[in-house]
Amino acid sequence: MKGLFLIILFSQSLLLHAYDLGFVSVPDMNQIMEYPSDVNPEWPLELIDIAKQDYTRNTKASFCMRPPEMVDTVVIHHSETSSSATPAYINELHLARGTATDPWYMIAYTYVINSPYKGATVPTPLVTDGRPIEIAGAHAGSNVFIPMDSEQAKIWADKKILCGKENEVPTFDATLVKNGKIKANVTTIGVVINGNYAPFAKNNPGGYSKRAPRYPTDKTQDMIARLSCQLQKKYPRMKYIKWHNYYHDTSCPGTIKSYIGQIKTLAKGYGCDFN
Ligand SMILES: [Zn+2]
Repeated sequence: MKGLFLIILFSQSLLLHAYDLGFVSVPDMNQIMEYPSDVNPEWPLELIDIAKQDYTRNTKASFCMRPPEMVDTVVIHHSETSSSATPAYINELHLARGTATDPWYMIAYTYVINSPYKGATVPTPLVTDGRPIEIAGAHAGSNVFIPMDSEQAKIWADKKILCGKENEVPTFDATLVKNGKIKANVTTIGVVINGNYAPFAKNNPGGYSKRAPRYPTDKTQDMIARLSCQLQKKYPRMKYIKWHNYYHDTSCPGTIKSYIGQIKTLAKGYGCDFN
């Protein structure tokens, strides 16, 4: 039984990613194995293809590792770039956003979706991997704290969320929780739709003009639904779809926000349930 479990675990990209991180030593591997994913034998469902991408990472930046079971929410973003921006370009933007005292490790989102605006035909629709799900994101506001459910509270209390730099021994960072609430980045993943779906403003010069608003296509909505459902099949604790300005004041994700209900309905059609 244990052998079977190991085979299942080794077949998960989870562990491959963990290997890539450098700082994951043998004791940490054991720790990951104490918290196996709720592996669904039907995975991978062929709901959507996910392209792989190797990203440059800033080895001077620290980041936090979490068991994927900590994550229960997909947070939708737009990138505020052109819709044809590549995932590698988004990674460069995020690396450049860091400062000497607060460097960013890599792309903040866990998935990147390329797709045209409604009425356009380019770029070709595509989902690409972002940062591994085992690394807490950097997308929902760095100082947003949200409640934990009992399972998340247990993972936290068991000190399963550890932070550090590559090639360092990761340590427990008590500041991720305040008054019983945890940083939203720890319990969520970011899914970004490349493009700028918010109106022009001083702080959003690439936004659309009032006469030509931009909307996601039916195909884009379907891609978000398929990706979310595919994730829920793999990680059954994934049960919410939210959007960036649910957490704090920002124009992100623009008009995509008003399609979240439709995206949940589409996900239901694939056998998934999201709140
Ligand atoms: Zn956002």
